[in-house]
Amino acid sequence: MSSSTTHNVKINPCHDWPLGKCKHEQRCTGEHHENLDPALVETNAYSGYMVPNEVGEGCVRCMQRMFPCDKKARGTENDPCSECRWFGGANCRCTLATDTSYNDQIWAVMMARGRDKNYTLPADKSREEGGKKAKSAPQPMPANSVKAGWQGETREALLNKADMLPSGVRDCPRAYLGPPRMSAAAKKSLAWKETGLKRELESAAESMPPPTFYSRAPLYVLPTFPPPPEFERPPASSAHGKVMTTSYSWETDEYTHTYENGTGVTGRATVAPTPNVRSSYDMLARKKQRIEPGRQKSAPSSIEDDTAANEALFILRERSTGGMPKKP
Ligand SMILES: [Zn+2]
Ligand SMILES: [Zn+2]
Ligand SMILES: [Zn+2]
Repeated sequence: MSSSTTHNVKINPCHDWPLGKCKHEQRCTGEHHENLDPALVETNAYSGYMVPNEVGEGCVRCMQRMFPCDKKARGTENDPCSECRWFGGANCRCTLATDTSYNDQIWAVMMARGRDKNYTLPADKSREEGGKKAKSAPQPMPANSVKAGWQGETREALLNKADMLPSGVRDCPRAYLGPPRMSAAAKKSLAWKETGLKRELESAAESMPPPTFYSRAPLYVLPTFPPPPEFERPPASSAHGKVMTTSYSWETDEYTHTYENGTGVTGRATVAPTPNVRSSYDMLARKKQRIEPGRQKSAPSSIEDDTAANEALFILRERSTGGMPKKP
């Protein structure tokens, strides 16, 4: 099995990297797998062949299974494409996919295959083989779900079809794919972020796991994860240097700042970190402290220039670690 040769082996994939959008380069905590390199498109072996990326070219079932689909010229669910007609089974609802393409669906298959399969695509399986969850071989749609006089390709013709994808594409799909359209879940998440309804944020924050402030997990893997809090970086210490990381304990309600020289300083915040914080975490924190919205104007703008903070902001406690805590 080959893995990335230019980076250390990292467990979680960086989802920005295959899109060509990772800004962290070597410092990225996610894996930049060589088979997801956006530059692979330049190595395309078919002088520019790309997996079709128009919407409305078929049904999702065919897109995911990488079969040509003849749904386009057809009517409603009782006029299924030939693939669904013969292999869709009793619960098949064949409709034309108007917001996704072969490209988008095959991208999702590639990512789901994961690093264990080196982000390849499955072999062009016989249509008679079911998926992992299938208990039996794929069945035709029942006759009463199909309109009278249905016409299309025969089961035998489908079974004899060659792979829709040119040879080699399945071994390195990233070279033949473009970044996918945003999934419905990602769109929803973005809308959620943009509207920023306080009520939604608060209820979401309460039901969410504690945030890791420096998580770089992409939005569409954990769609309801809040953004990192936007409070100002605490002032540097003459003894310990700059604050490098800050964490918050939900158990003890305390912050821990880790300084450049490895010293950790733990303390309890008694006021909100800044007046204009927008993250759900801070909303939750403020709610806990019962600070009314009208009082936020008088809240301190930073730890440094707040006189009240001098007496009450942090009850400090130092620990000497003799170095930065090692990241797992
Ligand atoms: Zn990255
Ligand atoms: Zn189809
Ligand atoms: Zn179909």
